[in-house]
Amino acid sequence: MPSFTVVDHPLAGDLLTSLRDETTGPAEYRALTRRLGLLLVAEATRDLATSPRAVVTPLEPFEGTQLAEGLVAIPVLRAGLGLLEAVTELYPDAVVGYLGMERDEITHEPRDYYAKLPPMEGRRALVVDPMLATGGSGSAAVAYVKQAGATDIVFVCVVAAPEGLAKMQADHPDVPIVAGALDRQLNERAYIVPGLGDFGDRLYGTP
Ligand code: URA
Repeated sequence: MPSFTVVDHPLAGDLLTSLRDETTGPAEYRALTRRLGLLLVAEATRDLATSPRAVVTPLEPFEGTQLAEGLVAIPVLRAGLGLLEAVTELYPDAVVGYLGMERDEITHEPRDYYAKLPPMEGRRALVVDPMLATGGSGSAAVAYVKQAGATDIVFVCVVAAPEGLAKMQADHPDVPIVAGALDRQLNERAYIVPGLGDFGDRLYGTP
């Protein structure tokens, strides 16, 4: 899988434009996020391992395939929860871990405040966090998941900033990133521009 992929699909562009639209309210926001998430998750799993599976169609024997690698979905709280349903809808057998990251007010470094992760062995870990802005919490989340035993990790986001992408690629060159868009830059408040605002606030209708 390439180290960075922007999902190039007309439907992804359509959904993302509606997510960017400041007039889109939370109910529609959640539905759009779920639909875009399906495209992102499909891309993030396009090279999952398969094994042969022989079946018989009504007409003749067929040498098919089946999935041979399980999935762990790890939404980074809270905005990552918006993408969770996309994973479990495409992969109902996925197990789910939760990771809460926040910025330490003294050190200004990201730190985990909550973690509940399932066993990772033999499974691909999808770390889902919609906005890859500075890359601080994304990189820390991936480091945490590696320490918990994951060896096959893909980071999934809706929008990436060049700054966050550079940090992730420097810290975790082994972790491919799948995004809906690569935006221009961060502003002085570390928001992605043009971006879509605060993803969590828009998803949950908080001010
Ligand atoms: N988090 C968000 O929700 N939006 C941004 O633009 C940056 C970080």
